[in-house]
Formats: sequence, structure tokens, C-alpha cells
Amino acid sequence: MTSHLLPTFARVDLAFDHGEGVWLHATNGERYLDFTSGVAVNALGHAHPQVVAAITEQAGKAIHVSNLFRVPEQERLADRLCAASFADYVFFANSGAEAMECAIKTARKFHAVNGQPERYRIITFEGAFHGRTLATLAAGGQKKYLEGFGPVVEGFDQVPFGDLEAVKKAIVPETAAILIEPIQGEGGVRVPENHFLRSLRALCDRHGLLLIFDEVQTGMGRTGELFAYQRIGVEPDVMALAKALGGGFPVGACLATENAGKGMTAGTHGSTFGGNPLAMAAGNATFDVMLADGFLERVRHTGILFRQRLAEIKDRYPSVIAEVRGEGLLLGLRCVIPNGQLVDALRDEHLLAVGAGDNVVRLYPPLIVSEDEVGEAMAMLDRACARLARERTPKKEAVG
Ligand SMILES: *Cc1c(COP(=O)(O)O)cnc(C)c1O
Repeated sequence: MTSHLLPTFARVDLAFDHGEGVWLHATNGERYLDFTSGVAVNALGHAHPQVVAAITEQAGKAIHVSNLFRVPEQERLADRLCAASFADYVFFANSGAEAMECAIKTARKFHAVNGQPERYRIITFEGAFHGRTLATLAAGGQKKYLEGFGPVVEGFDQVPFGDLEAVKKAIVPETAAILIEPIQGEGGVRVPENHFLRSLRALCDRHGLLLIFDEVQTGMGRTGELFAYQRIGVEPDVMALAKALGGGFPVGACLATENAGKGMTAGTHGSTFGGNPLAMAAGNATFDVMLADGFLERVRHTGILFRQRLAEIKDRYPSVIAEVRGEGLLLGLRCVIPNGQLVDALRDEHLLAVGAGDNVVRLYPPLIVSEDEVGEAMAMLDRACARLARERTPKKEAVG
């Protein structure tokens, strides 16, 4: 045995000492361009001075006090999240899965307090990812994650992504809500048609269902809007956030309208760590940066530029890359070769990227990435693709 870590991750043999903006410095002395951002977490890059200062200052005051008491930093972040979104209420958790658990419970409780406790079923979509707790795994419905873990949490009805007729058929008197990622991240940067999400909203309104958006990955600026739903103009009733919310520090949040959240009264839900002052300091500092003038506009601008350059690479290496997907700086390359080969080849060039479903490689730079840094990434990508394309083309026999 070489490590006492439960081997649930197939880890790359690479460790980092520290980061600086979009760069990570490995313990082997090499420098890597970090286009994983800790899987859409480090939206402000590494060691962002405002986040570091906020955490440092708060750690010297109080790290944790318990939700038995008012937590002013928590009230402030909740005010700001609601002012910036459709929501009236926020519950703070520590992770995406916990935020999603709260969203699922909120939807079920809503119908229960409306006198319809039999309405607890939630419609979800193939390829979805909502977390690794028992309920969120059931919501995601992926066999490979559910096998061997006993009875699957009941109450989720899965339909193909983007299939409106299937959604309509799945609505039964027991249905409570529809749950969807506005863009599937883990599923392979799958972007639904805008009219699909609009139709889901209309279906929810017609049938008295709640619409839940899992914006754990798409939220907090990743698509160039603070929340992905703002691109489409379809508001959910409940939304889960996490990943980038704390600028790298673990923070999750479940947001709801006053109506949707009305069942979640004192004692119905809780968390020991959720919303602690340290996490809230990180969240408020992240918010300060993202809401500053021009921040999201720059994400949109850089995203368009990056996407155009990726399209050029795709055209140049059709034997490696089949398709460019995504919005803002949530970008994916669907591969012709196995996606793991491209991830490895990029890492050999010192560019860190992350795989996803549907044979996709995700490129998630920190949102602070500059055009020059995108340029550096493109050079690395070009070299990696050139090498992979060469390896795929059998050498021509010399003739004559
Ligand atoms: C990452 C992710 C989650 C789970 O978040 P954890 O913090 O790992 O629990 C849930 N939903 C989506 C869409 C995600 O991308």
C-alpha cells in the first residue's frame, strides 16, 4: 500500500505547491496553466488578493460560531445573492451536493405544506450530475455511480436531455418539480436549446411544478452572466450554487423564491458548518470582484475570443477534435480520439484541462484569464493536437 487515501480518485501523479492567478506551481518545479480551475471552482484564479485578505482577516476574528446565532456575513451574502437573482431566500451549505439536497427537500416540502404530500417526484435528465450523496446520485441517475450502494432513493424520473415530449409524458399527479442544469457540465458541456428551457418553465407553470436549476457549475460568472439562467431569460423557483461561490473556499447555497421556500421553516433543515463566517467572507469577497464594473463583460469577451480560436483548432485537427461546445468560459471540446488522451497530451504541454462525459475535454480557465494567457493555452493546445494528429496518421511508405 502506497497511500492511506481511500482510492476513490484515479489521481495524476502531480502535486502543487502554490498558485498565482491562472498558474499553478508544481512540487516538481514546473509551472502549469490551470484551465481546470479546480473544476470550475477557482473562478478568480489562485491566491486572489481580495479573497486572501478577506479570509485572513476573518480567520483572525471568528472562523465558526454556529447557526444558533445570527451570522452578519451570512445575512449580507444572502442579501446580495437575492438582489442579484430571482430569489428571496438563501440556505448556505458546504458543497454542491448539499445545496442540491436542500433544493430537493425544498421542492418536496413545498407541496407537502400545500396539502399535497404525495407530490414528491422530480423529473431529471439523462447525462445529469447533481452530486454524490444518495439522493443527488438518484437524481443524476447514472448507473455506474449507483451500483452497489443499495436501494436507490425513490422519486426521480429521468428523461432524455432536451426531449420535451418525454418530459410531458413523465409528468404525473405525484410530480413535484423539474430539475435541470442549464448547461450540463459533467455530462459533457451539453447546451440545451433556449426554447427547451422556456418550455420547461411553461410546463411547470401549467402543472404547478417547481423549476429547479442546478447552477453549481454554471453559476457565478462561468457563462458570462452571473447565473446561466440570465442568458436565457428563464427564471427558476429554486437554484443550487456552489463551486465558484467561495472563490475556492467550500460554499454551497440553495436559493428559492418566497413561495417555493415557504415550507422550509425552523427545524426543517440545517447544517453545522454551512454559512460560517470564514466561508461567508470568501463568498462576499468573490462577489465584490465579480460584481465590479466590467468583470462579466470581460468574461463574455474573452469567452467569444477563446471559442473562435478553438473553432480554428478544430478545423485544423479534425482527426482529434470533432466539436467545440459551451458558453462564456464554460467550454468543451468533443474529441475524435478518447478524451483522456487529449487531457494527457495537454498536461504534457503544461496545460491542465478536465475530462467530461460524451468524450469531451473541458477547458475552464479562471474567469480572470487574460487574452495573452488564452494565447499561451492555444499554443499548447496546438502543439498537443499536432502531436496527436501525427500519431494517428500512419507514416506514408516511401514510393519509387
Ligand atoms: C460539481 C457539481 C455538483 C456537486 O458538487 P459537490 O460540491 O462536488 O458536492 C452538483 N451539481 C453540479 C451541476 C456540479 O457540477
